[in-house]
Amino acid sequence: MNRTELTAGPEATEQAGAELARTLAPGDIVLVSGELGAGKTTFVRGALRSLGVEGPITSPTFVVGHQHEGTHGPLSHLDLYRLAGMAGEDPGLLDPFFADDAIVFVEWPEQATDAFPPERVKHHVRLAHAGGDQRRIEVDA
Ligand code: ADP
Ligand code: MG
Repeated sequence: MNRTELTAGPEATEQAGAELARTLAPGDIVLVSGELGAGKTTFVRGALRSLGVEGPITSPTFVVGHQHEGTHGPLSHLDLYRLAGMAGEDPGLLDPFFADDAIVFVEWPEQATDAFPPERVKHHVRLAHAGGDQRRIEVDA
């Protein structure tokens, strides 16, 4: 996609996530980077909503991930922030999240770069604070 956008609030960031989601197909992985509070989960929430998730979409900060069933198949939402130690203890821990037909969103991908198959990565989204409620969203830039 290769574009940069400035959003003025959480709703606009959700909208950006929804737009990106329309380009995705089963098996795609989207990496979502940015510091704490940058809007990663907000962006993924918008994407998951547009893919048909109706229930609550919360941050998987205290578990490694959530699985949802979307309109067109399984959806995974991972947060690798605390993964570094865990993956070593249980190498198969993440396998269910990366089912061949799942669309996968990964927050904090840089915490465990060997946790996902690179050939499936479709987009890398980077979010950053840009003053007040503004956020800069770079897709594949
Ligand atoms: P992260 O997952 O990167 O830690 P979250 O999406 O959980 O970030 O939280 C972002 C916080 O910032 C939320 O409380 C959200 O309401 C707030 N916020 C304010 N402005 C924006 C914006 N433009 N885009 C996204 N979130 C925003
Ligand atoms: Mg988050």
